[in-house]
Amino acid sequence: MKEILQDLSREELTELVIGLGEKKFRAEQVYLGLMQGKKISELNISPALRAALLERFEDEPVRISETYISQEDGTKKYLFALADGNLIEGVLMKYKYGNTQCVSTQVGCRMGCKFCASTLGGRVRDLTAGEILCQISAVNRSEGGTLKERAVTNVVLMGSGEPFDNYENVVRFLRNVTAEGGIEISARNISLSTCGLVPEMKQFAEEGIPLNLTVSLHATTDEERARTMPIANRYKISEILEACANYFQKTGRRYIFEYTLISGENADEKHALALAKLLKGRPCHVNLIRLNAVKERSLHAAEEKTARRFLQILEEQGISATLRRSMGSDIGGACGQLRYSRIFPDGKIP
Ligand code: SAH
Repeated sequence: MKEILQDLSREELTELVIGLGEKKFRAEQVYLGLMQGKKISELNISPALRAALLERFEDEPVRISETYISQEDGTKKYLFALADGNLIEGVLMKYKYGNTQCVSTQVGCRMGCKFCASTLGGRVRDLTAGEILCQISAVNRSEGGTLKERAVTNVVLMGSGEPFDNYENVVRFLRNVTAEGGIEISARNISLSTCGLVPEMKQFAEEGIPLNLTVSLHATTDEERARTMPIANRYKISEILEACANYFQKTGRRYIFEYTLISGENADEKHALALAKLLKGRPCHVNLIRLNAVKERSLHAAEEKTARRFLQILEEQGISATLRRSMGSDIGGACGQLRYSRIFPDGKIP
């Protein structure tokens, strides 16, 4: 694979283009074109500059290969083809306040959570900062958005991959996507979800990127958590809570816990009470979601009424919580259903 031009910050890109003998305004044109989701070959630049860029960089690092539309709620799932033939998935959810895009940060995932499809084939490779960013510019463009009137208003790093297992690229992506004059999505409109990599959570608190830090908790004791999340053998819930408190202290941002309700596993009243006890008095919010089906997995969703009871207990105990409805499950686009595949040499998608 060639290099990815969209990995560069505006400043780095300007330097590169000037270094190729062009004027500064040309560099600006290249930058704005790329942020609008254009390929290098579509930029309105001199043939010499185009040739120089194409020699070193991928023309289209992320191409929308397929789009699926949910009949239930209008959610769109995208299959993106990367320059090396790997495929990743992403989702665009439409809400009253705007459109939220869910992006992937790795091809596959190595965290091994028992309920999730993204980890079935392990981790294939990390995405570069530009490959994460291009998912957004491609969708924004295909939805008819521009840089002034974006069709993508919010971003969640909740697709396949563990963002903090690809720390440097993810932080570079976050700096580039929030930068003034580009795609410019404010950190407040970005949520990053982690399975709880404590050292990276601490490191991230120092980066000065005040986004919505979200942690996949899914259990109230380390033993129970380890049954579905291997990472629980590495970091304790107490260490995760401490890292969250530190994030709040450094950024002033309240943090969020994801809690997927799994029948016979973590969804009983006693679990709700234990969760409330664990989180009482903390500046946090709990997002409950009923497990989405993953065909290779044997786990089942808690009943709707069990989920509502769970929510009610949390609320009675003074915990801020919501029960999220699942979106895009009819197209395999809901939480935990995103997966990867590879284009076969004959160009067919398996
Ligand atoms: N690796 C990160 C990012 C994934 S975000 C993380 O673990 O947080 C996707 C969210 O969906 C996580 O909270 C994850 O635990 C949850 N999830 C995974 N599989 C799911 C499923 N089958 N049903 C509902 N939620 C699921």
